[in-house]
Amino acid sequence: MNVTINNAEQLKTKPDETKLGFGTIFTDHMFNMDYSVEKGWHNPRIEPYAPLTMDPSTMVLHYGQGVFEGMKAYRNQQGGIQLFRPQENFKRINASNRKLCIPEIDEAFCLDALKQLLNVEKDWVPSEPGTSLYIRPTIIATDPFLGVRASHTYRFFIILSPVGAYYAEGFNPVKIMVSKDHVRAVRGGVGDTKTMGNYAASLLAGEQAHKAGYTQVLWLDAVELKYVEEVGSMNIFFVIDDEIITPMLSGSILPGITRDSVLALGKSWGLKVSERKISIDAVIDAHQSGHLKEIFGSGTAAVISPVGELKYGDTVITVGDGKVGPLAHKFFQAIQDIQYGIIDGPQGWIEKL
Ligand SMILES: *Cc1c(COP(=O)(O)O)cnc(C)c1O
Repeated sequence: MNVTINNAEQLKTKPDETKLGFGTIFTDHMFNMDYSVEKGWHNPRIEPYAPLTMDPSTMVLHYGQGVFEGMKAYRNQQGGIQLFRPQENFKRINASNRKLCIPEIDEAFCLDALKQLLNVEKDWVPSEPGTSLYIRPTIIATDPFLGVRASHTYRFFIILSPVGAYYAEGFNPVKIMVSKDHVRAVRGGVGDTKTMGNYAASLLAGEQAHKAGYTQVLWLDAVELKYVEEVGSMNIFFVIDDEIITPMLSGSILPGITRDSVLALGKSWGLKVSERKISIDAVIDAHQSGHLKEIFGSGTAAVISPVGELKYGDTVITVGDGKVGPLAHKFFQAIQDIQYGIIDGPQGWIEKL
């Protein structure tokens, strides 16, 4: 299959790179590809960024059969463009596809198509420190049909958005609140996929946390409300004494690529990293006894997000005096330096354009 390219006649004015936010500006072009039972995935094309026109009965709007990914393109030291472990994102979208009964995509072909799109849009990759071009691959069910079954047709698209430095005001700890009333996902469900409904289901708890003055929700397991799962759109790490602990992938936790990168780097540095169950009570106890050193989240948007305060019911704990811990800082620096080509990461992590 060849990707056809239809260039936009008029290009948008590029935004001021020093004032970029997140997710509001989109580039001139997008990638589109369709699926039908007869043709499989077909008609891959790069064309002007434009609204999707669809029938009001389009299945994704009613039943949420859709998946997405989130990744970034970085401007490296030499002025080139590079991706961080993009194969993992395409592998993960196929894992999401299998759970949502969406036909799988050809991972190598889609990575190549993304690179072609980035090549068309290369002037949109910002170069100010900490900025990047956010990449959102998405697949939606497009049959115009009411009734619960898997769609027979799909649209795969990739859109791009220049984004600012996450820590424009400095690498600051966030405050998180444990949700006792809501759960994010159950084992055997779709919590380990990036599917739209998971995020809709998280909104109410998020709003409650915001009202109480907290940035993000820390989710507990849905069965016993006892074991820590993850935060908003990040995985979570606890440093207790010299052990770096993240909840093991149980089927309800999103398998983050940043999470995997923290684990791999931690191991390569000879640190003690564990993927295991950890209860919220064990976290609070470790704090009371002085053993809890750090808490931090991991995800593509922020890379590493140190946690300075955690609220669980009436208990509020301040982690590491509310300051950024040394390990959060070390992981943040290392992963970011690899992403921007300042240092070399493990073999195969960087894909240059
Ligand atoms: C995307 C996401 C993450 C982080 O995954 P990365 O691959 O590290 O960006 C964690 N949790 C949820 C719920 C997510 O959607």
